[in-house]
Amino acid sequence: MTLKDLAIGESARILKTGGNGELRQHFLDMGVIPGTVVTKVKLAPMGDPIEFDVNGYELTMRLCDAKKIEVTKEEETQAEKALKANQNDHNKTIHPGLGEDGKFHAKGDGNPLPDGTLLTYALVGNQNSGKTTLFNQLTGSNQHVGNFPGVTVDRKDGEIRGQQNTLVTDLPGIYSMSPYSSEEIISRNFVLNEKPRGIINIVDATNIHRNLYLTMQLLEMDIPMVVALNMMDEVTGNGGSIDVNKMEELLGVPVIPISAAKNQGVDELIKHAVHVAHFQEKPLRQDFCDENDSGGAVHRALHAVIHLIQDHAVKAGIPVRFAASKLLEGDKRILYQLDLDVNEKEILEHISLQMENERGLDRSAAIADMRYSYIKNVCSQTVRKPKESRERIRSQKIDTLLTGKYTAIPFFLLIMTLVFFLTFNVIGAFFQGLLEKGIEGLTGLVDSGLSAIGTNGVLHALIIDGIFTGVGSVLSFLPIIVTLFFFLSLLEDSGYIARVAFVMDTLLRKIGLSGRSIVPLLIGFGCTVPAVMSTRILPSERDRKMTILLTPFMSCTAKLPIFAFFTAAFFPKHGGLIMTGLYIFGIIAGIVAAFIYRKTLFKGEPVPFVMELPNYRLPSPKNVGQLLWEKAKDFLERAFTVIFIATIVIWFLQSFDLQLNYIEDSSQSILAKIASLFEPLMKPIGLGDWRICTSLISGVMAKESVVSTLEILFEGGVSKVLSSMAAASLLIFSLLYSPCIAAIASVKRELGSKWAAALVLWQCAVAWLCAFLVYSLGNLFI
Ligand code: GDP
Ligand code: MG
Repeated sequence: MTLKDLAIGESARILKTGGNGELRQHFLDMGVIPGTVVTKVKLAPMGDPIEFDVNGYELTMRLCDAKKIEVTKEEETQAEKALKANQNDHNKTIHPGLGEDGKFHAKGDGNPLPDGTLLTYALVGNQNSGKTTLFNQLTGSNQHVGNFPGVTVDRKDGEIRGQQNTLVTDLPGIYSMSPYSSEEIISRNFVLNEKPRGIINIVDATNIHRNLYLTMQLLEMDIPMVVALNMMDEVTGNGGSIDVNKMEELLGVPVIPISAAKNQGVDELIKHAVHVAHFQEKPLRQDFCDENDSGGAVHRALHAVIHLIQDHAVKAGIPVRFAASKLLEGDKRILYQLDLDVNEKEILEHISLQMENERGLDRSAAIADMRYSYIKNVCSQTVRKPKESRERIRSQKIDTLLTGKYTAIPFFLLIMTLVFFLTFNVIGAFFQGLLEKGIEGLTGLVDSGLSAIGTNGVLHALIIDGIFTGVGSVLSFLPIIVTLFFFLSLLEDSGYIARVAFVMDTLLRKIGLSGRSIVPLLIGFGCTVPAVMSTRILPSERDRKMTILLTPFMSCTAKLPIFAFFTAAFFPKHGGLIMTGLYIFGIIAGIVAAFIYRKTLFKGEPVPFVMELPNYRLPSPKNVGQLLWEKAKDFLERAFTVIFIATIVIWFLQSFDLQLNYIEDSSQSILAKIASLFEPLMKPIGLGDWRICTSLISGVMAKESVVSTLEILFEGGVSKVLSSMAAASLLIFSLLYSPCIAAIASVKRELGSKWAAALVLWQCAVAWLCAFLVYSLGNLFI
C-alpha cells in the first residue's frame, strides 16, 4: 500500500521511499524515511496534491509522488515501540530559561583572528524558521540587497548592530545541503566556497526534528557555528522546554534559545557568534554515526570512506566528514570535485554496497536514517515536547476553511478581491490621490518659478511637459505597488501563500506551472510591475521566467480607461459583457501562450511540489516594513533610470520635427512621422491611421494616456472616425500589446534586456495576430 491509498486521518509507517534522484533525496531530507509514521491529513480541493503529517509538521506532495512511498499499517516492532515510549516521556528535563549565557560553552581565548578581520557569517536555516525576522533583528537598518552572482535570487548582507567588522549574509531557506532547488545550490555553494568565518544556524524549535537535520550537515562543514533556537516563545508558551545545556553538549556548539519576533536572546546570540568566529572555535563534534546504531554498518562505512578520501578532500578544500557522507549518499558533484582515481572509486562503491547490504536500506536512506537517529537521540534527552501547541490547533482550525474542500476557493477569491478592493479603491487610491496632488502642486510651483526667471520655452516645456508629467504619471504607481506588497507580505509571512499553492496546484499544473505562480498572475490583474517583482517568491528559475512572460496577458487596471471609453462609445448596450469578454480573452490568450512556451522555451517539468505548510503566524511589522521599503526603493531606483530617459525621448519625439524645430502642430512631430511608418502594418487590423499609432506608442509610457492622446489628436472625434470593428480591433490590440515602460523596466530587472525586448516584440505580434483575427472575422460576419 502507498501513501496515496491511505484514508484521510489514517496513519501508517513508511516501508520504502521510492522515486529517484534529487527529488527522492529531498523526501529523505524532509524526514520521509523508512520507519517514520505519517498521517494523511487531506487532499487539496481539486484532489491533488496531498497533505500529510510527518514528525509533527505538515508536508504536501503530488499524488504521483505519494504513490512512490510505500507504507504499512502493521504493528511496530518492539524496538520501535521502546524508542517511541522514550520520546513521549514528558517529564525528563527542566528548562534552563532564556539567556543563561551558556553553561556548556566555556569560551576559550586561543588563536584569535587578528583584530580588524572581517567576520563574515552565513545565516542558514529552513524556510519559515524566522530567518528574515532574525536577520532584521541582527542588522537593524544597515543592510543592502543585491543578487547572488549569475542568478536573480535576493542576496541580503548587513553588519550586526553594534559590532564593527561583521557581515551577515541571509541565505535562501534550505532543508539540506543536498542541492535540490537552485536556491539550495546557492546556499550550499556559499557555505562551501565562500568559507564564511562563522555560521549562524537558525532552528525552529517548534519543529526541531526536521530543523536539526540541516544542523547535522552544517556541523560537518567544520566552520565555527552557533545554533539559534528560534520560536522559543511558542515552545514555552505551550508548556514545552528544551534543555539547552544538554543540547550544546550533544551538538558541540553553543545553542542559544531566542525569539526573533520578540527580540529575546538576540544579544546573547550575537555575543556567542562573535566569540566563536573571532577565536575560530570549531564544532566539537562531527561524528554522529554510532557503532551501536542498527549494527553500526553506516558508522563503519563512513569512517572507512573518511580515511579513503582524506587527501583528496584536503586538496579539493572540502571538509572531509562532509565529503564522506555526501559520497556515501551518492552525490555526483562531490565525487567529481574530489577527483578520485579508478581504484578509489571502486573501493568507494564496494563500501557503499556493503553498507546497503548490512543496513538493509539503500545508501541515501541509510545516511538520512543515521542522521535522524542521532536527532531522535538528542531530542529524547533534551526536548520536553509541548502538548499540542495552540498555534498548531489554531492553524488546523483556520485550515478547515482556507484549504477545505468546498471553502478553499471561495475564500481565496474573497481574500484576493478584498486585497484588490483595498488596494485600488481605498488605501492605494487614497495615497495615489495625495501623491498626484503633491506632484500637481510641485509642477505648478516649478512652472511658475520657471516662468518667473524667464526660462527658455523649450527647456520649460521639457521640464514641465516632459519630465514632470511623464515621471509623475509613473510615480503615481508607487502607492499601489507599496500597498499591494503590503498585503502580499502579510499573506506570504502568515503562511497563506503556501496554502494557495497547495489549493491551486492542479489548475496551474495544466499549463506547466506550479501552484505558487497563481499569486503573481493574479497581481497582474492589478498592475504588471508588482506582479513581475513578486515572482521572486517562486522557487524555480524556470517557473519564474515562464510566469513573468505570462503576466502581460492578465489585463492590468491601467487598461480599464481604454476599455471603458471604447465600450461606452461603440457598444453601449453590451458594456459589461465586452469588458468581461476582454478579460477572458486575455486569460485564454495567456493559456495558449503558456502551452506554446511549454513546448518551446520551457520544456521539462514544473518543479515537483514538495512543500511545507507552516503554522499560521502573525507577520512581524519590522519584516513587513523592511520589505515595503525595499520594494519601493527598488521600483524608484531601477525603473526610474529607464523611465526617466524614456520620458525625455518621447517628449523630444513629440515636440520636434525632423529639422529639429520646436513645433506646436503635433502632426509634424518626429513621433507622428515614426507612427505613420506603422500605418501600413496596422492597416490590416483596421488601425492604419498615424494618430492611432501615435497614441498606442504613447500608451507604452502609460496605458492611461492612449485615450487622452486619441482625444487630442482627433480633436474629440475619435468615436466618429472609427468603425465599430476597428474599435473592437483596437480593444484587442491594447489588451495584448507591449506592457508599459514601468513594466518593461521590471522585466528587464528580473530577466535582462534581451528578454525584455523579446517580450515587447512578442506581445505586439500576439496582439496584432489576435486583432487581425477579430477584425477580419468580424468584417466577414457583420
Ligand atoms: P523565513 O522564511 O525563515 O525568513 O521566516 P520569517 O522571518 O519570514 O518568519 C516566518 C514567520 O514566523 C513570520 O510570520 C514571523 O513573524 C514568525 N516568527 C519569526 N520568529 C518568530 C519567533 O521567535 N516567535 C514567533 N512566535 N514567531 C516568529
Ligand atoms: Mg524569509
